[in-house]
Amino acid sequence: MVLRVPPRSAAAAKSSRRLEPCPLLPARPYVRAARGLAGGSTALLLAVRCRTAEALSDALCRCYWAPPLEVRVMALPVEEWRLCAARRWAALEPAVRERLASSSLHDTLRLGCGLLRPEAEALSRLCHRARAGKEPAAARFYREEGNRLFGRRRYGAAVRLYSQAASHELPGCPEVSVCFANRSAALFHLGHFEVCLEDIARAESHGYPDRLLPKVLLRKAECLLCLGRLQEAADALSVVESKIAMDGIMTTHQTLLKKLSQLRIKIHEKESCPEPAREAHDDIQRKLEIWEENDSISGASSSLTLNFDRERGRHLVASQDILPGQNLLKEEAFVSVLCPGESLLLQDSSETAWDTRVTNADLYCHRCLRQLLASVPCRGCSYAKYCSQNCADVAWEQYHRTECSLGALLLTLGVFCHVALRTVLLAGFAEVSRLVEWSHDDDKDLHNLEARCKHPSEAPDTRTGTRGIPGCNDNGQYQSSYQAVFNLLPHAEKHSPEHKFLCMLSVVAICKQLQEAGLEAAVLNQESSEKWSKPKTCEKTSGELSPELKIMAEAMLRHVLQLQCNAQAITVMQESGSGDGAVVNKKPVRLATAFFPVLSLLNHSCCPNTSVSFSGTAATVRASQPIPSGQEIFHCYGPHRCRMRVAERQQLLSQYFFECHCQACLDELESDVKSVVSMRNSFCCPSCWASIQGEDMLCCSNEACAISVSRESLSCRLWDLQQQIKKALELLRDGKADQAIKMLLKCQMDARNFLSPEHLLMGEMEDHLAQVYATLGKWQDAARHLERSIEIVEMHHGPSSVEMGHELFKLAQILFNGFAVSEALSTIQRAEEILSVHYGPQSTQIQELQEMKTCLLELPRSILQRT
Ligand SMILES: [Zn+2]
Ligand SMILES: [Zn+2]
Ligand SMILES: [Zn+2]
Ligand SMILES: [Zn+2]
Repeated sequence: MVLRVPPRSAAAAKSSRRLEPCPLLPARPYVRAARGLAGGSTALLLAVRCRTAEALSDALCRCYWAPPLEVRVMALPVEEWRLCAARRWAALEPAVRERLASSSLHDTLRLGCGLLRPEAEALSRLCHRARAGKEPAAARFYREEGNRLFGRRRYGAAVRLYSQAASHELPGCPEVSVCFANRSAALFHLGHFEVCLEDIARAESHGYPDRLLPKVLLRKAECLLCLGRLQEAADALSVVESKIAMDGIMTTHQTLLKKLSQLRIKIHEKESCPEPAREAHDDIQRKLEIWEENDSISGASSSLTLNFDRERGRHLVASQDILPGQNLLKEEAFVSVLCPGESLLLQDSSETAWDTRVTNADLYCHRCLRQLLASVPCRGCSYAKYCSQNCADVAWEQYHRTECSLGALLLTLGVFCHVALRTVLLAGFAEVSRLVEWSHDDDKDLHNLEARCKHPSEAPDTRTGTRGIPGCNDNGQYQSSYQAVFNLLPHAEKHSPEHKFLCMLSVVAICKQLQEAGLEAAVLNQESSEKWSKPKTCEKTSGELSPELKIMAEAMLRHVLQLQCNAQAITVMQESGSGDGAVVNKKPVRLATAFFPVLSLLNHSCCPNTSVSFSGTAATVRASQPIPSGQEIFHCYGPHRCRMRVAERQQLLSQYFFECHCQACLDELESDVKSVVSMRNSFCCPSCWASIQGEDMLCCSNEACAISVSRESLSCRLWDLQQQIKKALELLRDGKADQAIKMLLKCQMDARNFLSPEHLLMGEMEDHLAQVYATLGKWQDAARHLERSIEIVEMHHGPSSVEMGHELFKLAQILFNGFAVSEALSTIQRAEEILSVHYGPQSTQIQELQEMKTCLLELPRSILQRT
């Protein structure tokens, strides 16, 4: 959704600048958003307004769920490679296919190792399309493109382009310092002073040309001044002065000198009139969450127990009554891999222009998934970018030194293969080989697992823990460990043989390349185990994997298969667009794919009793409703009863190899309970507006009317309506708000003639209208429309759903902007109650609500009376 800051609000804010300084307003979180303004307190009120108006777009998005199918496609290898593998599979002798289909993972790999060679050529051709290496020519292109946008004051876009340029510069080459210096200038204009200072330091340490240094150092002083670090600012100025003095006065320095003296004056002014202290607002009292960790399940609350039976497998049950909002699980991903996004793979290898589109790799840290502002590039490749040097170093130590040169291959083979590789690298060879060998013993006793689950107490197994539950250690503890990951079900027998074959070829391709790149020792030495640290001297025919690599490959194959059922998507609301100006677009995206062995213990339900949220690579699960002791804890793998009908849900769930028997599914399948979705997306009689029923032909329920209409004609009308709405949104995007309003109102009139009042689209139109009015700064109108939209959201998702929380958050911001103080306060209260259940009292959402509240309560009376 698109939002522009209303011109009116800027004007209003200008007139209120007289209010400065205003120590009552929470400065820190908002100043950041006062883009393009001379930072500091003069623009505080404007900052508050911009911030909230911009933040509106956070919530101006109704779709919180990315379609799972699209997600799966992205995780698999590229289509060409899938086709390649399928052709190879079809060409195999039937007997070989038969054997591959029925053998264990170990034997599949033994049989299949030699089958890659004929396809290796095709795969390496495909890899050429993925650009993961460093290309100095690309660096030049991105830097020039960055300069061009900088000149047009599109600083956000310029920052990203300079980052891309830096990622393509060869390590140690002085050009990279120019990228950092240029980026620091753009960051300065965006008001990111801390990060700007970091970039200046980077530029200096990477050999920034001496003659250009004074300009950069002046910027440093200016940053320090803006941050209120006056002594340091003064020191930095002295350095510049002595530098200029040393160089002798050159004409190019004239402007610098002028600026210098201006800065001197500013520092002096600030020293003589210090800003009021704002510490009071920094410690917003946060409720500390009560958290008692489970003795036997790491990261889980003590109010849960781990159970195991044949039907449900491992699952978690409430061992005491649980309240809504109670924290049930906090887990750091065992492994996670950033989903690159599609544009890293160019459609055509002959394409010469470099892509300036932004991908996940440009927006999030390759390791910790934090949002990137000024990224630190990997020393070896152009695709791994980090939030800090520390993240870059840790990633390099843990896995990236092995992955770095495999970038193109990993992009081609997809995220699941990448997760599989990183999993074994993190686990280390010793642990991988221990568990692979253990699984071979287990294969010999095929019914071992079943035997154990039939008689868990009678079959104590020292390898899996005394409680006999797979994945537990010797003390019966279940931890977020490699052992737990290894014990997630691969469902090897349920995958299609072709799919297994594709996964096997892909894994072998990775291991082959590791071997060819001379990385085998690095892979096997991860644990620095003496046993494996000796250089391998055994003769190998080229193309044959060493026994150790075969063990790694087998574990990787297992992980790829496990991922289909156990991959957990880490999702965020992503801002698209350059971030310049006020146009912001947000949509939910899958950020990364991860293994969360503890979270994986939760079974699926289409009406779950928990809600999951992410922060970086950590997941938190909270009870979304009261859970009585003895009830199982569920989360939703995607198909939620509010979003899909039972048939669609069951079809999606078949990828996880199970049929859902949750209460919602049973209700919809067995009794005649209609799904929430179909009930509320229904039509009404075009003639008398009464409800209308039937399959292909719909009949009016009003006997006096007795009109019948074909479903097809109604669907056509619906489609037309949707096109009209799209056009209205385009008008809004082009700044033609008045026309957009007219068009939306006309759409509404039309819709009332054939859609039921609870139809989702009715709510969406209200939401769009609210958005247009917000754009115009007509907050009262915006609130009125949003309230109607919220009624429909409530009908669809329930009064305490996370969707309701988001909508109320949005309403609170609109009321806040309109200075509707008492309404805003009560809406904040409601939003807070709901969102703290789903995200916890310490979440950013709650913090923002509390800041709004503080701000409203402390607003000077003069402002309230003026509006
Ligand atoms: Zn990081
Ligand atoms: Zn790299
Ligand atoms: Zn279900
Ligand atoms: Zn009728």
